[in-house]
Amino acid sequence: MRKLMLSAFALALSPLVAFCQPKGWNDPFPPHRVMDNLYYVGTKELASFLIVTPQGNILMNSDYETSVPVIKASVEKLGFKFSDIKILIAGHAHPDHVGGDNMVKELTGAQVVVGRVDADKTKDFHPAGQVHPIDRLVDDGETVTLGGTTLTAHIMPGHTRGCLAWSTELKEDGKSYYTFIECSLNGQFLQSLDQYPGMVDDFRATYKKALTFPVEVFLSSHASFYNLAEKYAKLEKRGPGDPNPFVDPEGYKAHVAQYEKTFEAALARRQAPPAEKKGN
Ligand SMILES: [Zn+2]
Repeated sequence: MRKLMLSAFALALSPLVAFCQPKGWNDPFPPHRVMDNLYYVGTKELASFLIVTPQGNILMNSDYETSVPVIKASVEKLGFKFSDIKILIAGHAHPDHVGGDNMVKELTGAQVVVGRVDADKTKDFHPAGQVHPIDRLVDDGETVTLGGTTLTAHIMPGHTRGCLAWSTELKEDGKSYYTFIECSLNGQFLQSLDQYPGMVDDFRATYKKALTFPVEVFLSSHASFYNLAEKYAKLEKRGPGDPNPFVDPEGYKAHVAQYEKTFEAALARRQAPPAEKKGN
């Protein structure tokens, strides 16, 4: 417990973390089945997913360290054991997605899988005095398989240099759905945060690449990116024969277009003052 308090103090001192931890993000959200063996166990804003298999479960995104108890309660509310998590996979190296990795590792012993390109940055986000527990590094196109479910990593650089989206196939009523857990296409913070050289080109290529995936079930690292609140309300009211609200190919395309637009607008604002250095 003392260790946790110390790390909370250290986190509070970090400007990046302060920037990233808006109020209410960690509030609980009703856990629910998205489709097939994939469940939502995240907070009100930070999306975490549990993939349940006969050989144990996969958790995607530990979120903040303070999110882990919220995720654990959600897993248990659905009737699953937190200790059955065998693999923890990450989206990208920001504290609101990997800050809880140490705690999940400690509670479950899960194998921690992180994208190779983002690995160094990921190591920045661990409790004071601890080492980030990375067990396996994955590259673009590599897969994670457990109990008959396979997830494929797709590198989507920009938001971070090694941002990873994950895809899998889910089944419902005899039909198979291409399911995409997007990383983040958010480039609106450009004015306040310089990321890395080449970021602008990466973002632009990623918005193009994003449209090449045949997305049917659209999920993301943030609940608001895929309008979870609205879709969950529809799920609650869903009757026999009603469509699954998470099947949203058009919503996905609209999201990509919207974030490309806000990125270009942020870039234009940053390049506006003549004294500013050009591009990246
Ligand atoms: Zn992020």
